[in-house]
Amino acid sequence: MVDNAPNSILLSLRRIIQDFSSKNSFEEAIATFVEEIRTSTDVDCCSLYLLDARRTYLRLAATDGLSKSSIGKANLRVGEGLVGLVAQKQELINLADAPSHPNFKFLPDVGEDEFLSFLGVPVINQGELLGVLVIQSREDRQFDEQEESFLITLSAQIASTVSLNRNKLYQENSSTRFKGQVGTGGIAIAQAAVWKPPVTFNNLQIMYTDERTIQSELFHQTIFQLQTEMDKKVLSMRENSQSRAESGYIHGYGSLLDDSELIDEVDRAILDQGYVAASAIKVVVQSRLERDQKILSKDKMRDLIDFAHILIYRLTHIYSSNDEIQQNEILVVRTLPAATVADLPRDKVEGFICVDSATSSHTAILAQDLGIPAVIGVQLSLDEIDGHTVIIDGQNAEVIVDPSPSVIDEYNQLISQGQERQDLFESEKKEKGISIDGRRITIQLNAGLNHEAKDLTDETDGIGLYRTEIAFMLNSSLPTEEQQIGWYSNLLSQFKGRPVCMRTLDVGGDKGLPYLPIEEQNPALGWRGIRVCIDQPDILKTQLRAMMYAHMEHGNLEVMVPMIARLEEVLIVKRLLNEAISEVEQENNTIISRPRFGVMIEIPCLAYVLDDIAQEVDFFSIGSNDLIQYLFAVDRNNPKVSKFFDPFNPAAVRCLKYLVDKSKILKKPLSICGELAGSSLGSLLLMSLGFEHLSMNYSQMARVKYIVRHTNISELIKVGTQALTLSNSDQIKALYEDFARVNGLSRVIELSDNIRS
Ligand code: PEP
Ligand code: MG
Repeated sequence: MVDNAPNSILLSLRRIIQDFSSKNSFEEAIATFVEEIRTSTDVDCCSLYLLDARRTYLRLAATDGLSKSSIGKANLRVGEGLVGLVAQKQELINLADAPSHPNFKFLPDVGEDEFLSFLGVPVINQGELLGVLVIQSREDRQFDEQEESFLITLSAQIASTVSLNRNKLYQENSSTRFKGQVGTGGIAIAQAAVWKPPVTFNNLQIMYTDERTIQSELFHQTIFQLQTEMDKKVLSMRENSQSRAESGYIHGYGSLLDDSELIDEVDRAILDQGYVAASAIKVVVQSRLERDQKILSKDKMRDLIDFAHILIYRLTHIYSSNDEIQQNEILVVRTLPAATVADLPRDKVEGFICVDSATSSHTAILAQDLGIPAVIGVQLSLDEIDGHTVIIDGQNAEVIVDPSPSVIDEYNQLISQGQERQDLFESEKKEKGISIDGRRITIQLNAGLNHEAKDLTDETDGIGLYRTEIAFMLNSSLPTEEQQIGWYSNLLSQFKGRPVCMRTLDVGGDKGLPYLPIEEQNPALGWRGIRVCIDQPDILKTQLRAMMYAHMEHGNLEVMVPMIARLEEVLIVKRLLNEAISEVEQENNTIISRPRFGVMIEIPCLAYVLDDIAQEVDFFSIGSNDLIQYLFAVDRNNPKVSKFFDPFNPAAVRCLKYLVDKSKILKKPLSICGELAGSSLGSLLLMSLGFEHLSMNYSQMARVKYIVRHTNISELIKVGTQALTLSNSDQIKALYEDFARVNGLSRVIELSDNIRS
């Protein structure tokens, strides 16, 4: 126990700090530091744990009382054990009987078993958590206030030195960490291979030719070759249920391949003006960019430049083909066109890094859907990185250059943990979504194409969102009624006996149809979703008739309408639906069961008219991607503002709660089908607020099912009630992270879950 005399306390403090500062090495300083604290406080043990460079583990850095051989080896995750709890809460913990605390964790080989009392304080420098300082005693006793303030003072005194030296201790001073703007996929470790195209859109020299017909043919051949490659890629994505990747791919440059105006312009530039093919592309794209700069979004401009890049690479024979890439490399480039992402030879490329932050957002979307580890917008010098070992941490949007062996070990451990987690989910994927306390959560699939390659009926409770626009995007013109009947019948028969919720055509905004171009200054707030269909009722009517033909045969259709903002819109769609039903009935001399009819809640104004809308519909479904976009006025595709796209913000949490409560009062089932539903922490948030119907992409289903099956929802609802009282997003998120840890879900939940639409 510290001698209570104020002078003696001050003297001890001064001596310990002086000794700490006088040591030659940091290791020596912290070793002496813990020894002196132990003797001054007359306890049995004093230890210092420091946060590793990844900020996930607290590692024993110095101890007097525990086994010295555990220094540098004993690890606790933030949140794990009592030390982890101090770090997580960033608060002092003082316990007389530590082993009886629910968070107590026994670490074998450390020699902690003989200690009963525990006092831990966080080490924090300028708001950054660095570690935890602990004293322990064999006696069962509460440390007094004097001892608490003694430890707090010491921890504050050493914090700035710890901050400067912590990395050296883990020999990570040679590795350099770079933060990117967007990350996708998991972890990749490999040598960096820098690829710098010798000719780019900007530096391409304009050249002329006498062989105009040959150049024109070359250009058409290249377009044809790209088109064939794209068709092949689309097919393989379809087989792998990567509908979002597929639509991103098509969006990336597929529509430009079909842009006959652009192709004609290039052709004329070759044939009439005598440019070589590559130069003609540059001239035409440049003049388009100048002409349309006011109406084209940044992403569209980027798509156009990327498209030009791809054609120029091909035409100047500098396309980085598979043969140029060695085995197991991480590609480092200035920028990578979205379309090239789908072409990356996955058996050779472990991941990629783009240093240019203006890389198309479709590049990231595609990489995410294809599960490719990638970081975009990293300030790295392309001249200095070739051949160096790098780690891509897609989850945290970080790149580590020249990692030390211990860092590599740690990341390898994370990779195998990821694999372990995957195996864990696989074993449950055919089970029902029933929680520990017996509550049924329906888990449905978001689909964009028929999943013919896989029989998913055992794994889902049906389809909660079928994005009909994806099939429209793949067609070269508006599909006919017959074509659509074929698509819809196929899907309904595949999921016979289970509901299939088809969304009426949702184009505009970030989803374009090559044959229905919509160029607007502000597409997210423009002519999109149901607005297009109401202005073009023939398109909607044909679609509804096709749906009804399919439903007549199979009977499991639900119809859902996107982007509804007004009751009038619901009434118009209902009128068209009624017409479609009676026409199909008359044409077939039969009676058709009415499909369940619902609207998506994506535009916040709908919350204020739910009573009126409820009179007209059977169900509601929240499109959280758009709802959050419009709630916070934050572009869902713009990585620069992604931090504002925050479902844990109190406004989002309260809005979701309002909607779930209100639909219960109105006795209308409410589901949710945005990305939030399929994210691990997001699914916890939703269930805690009372959501019972979640719909998500195939790749997320097994994990969410696992979470449901390992959660006591009555307990989780208490967390939801608490979340509603908080006014800070980090605190709300921490509640769910805590819940996950305490309930053994920390292995399953990646705590840095990135929820983007
Ligand atoms: C949504 O907005 O959440 C949604 C599911 O629709 P989409 O992502 O297709 O706009
Ligand atoms: Mg939407």
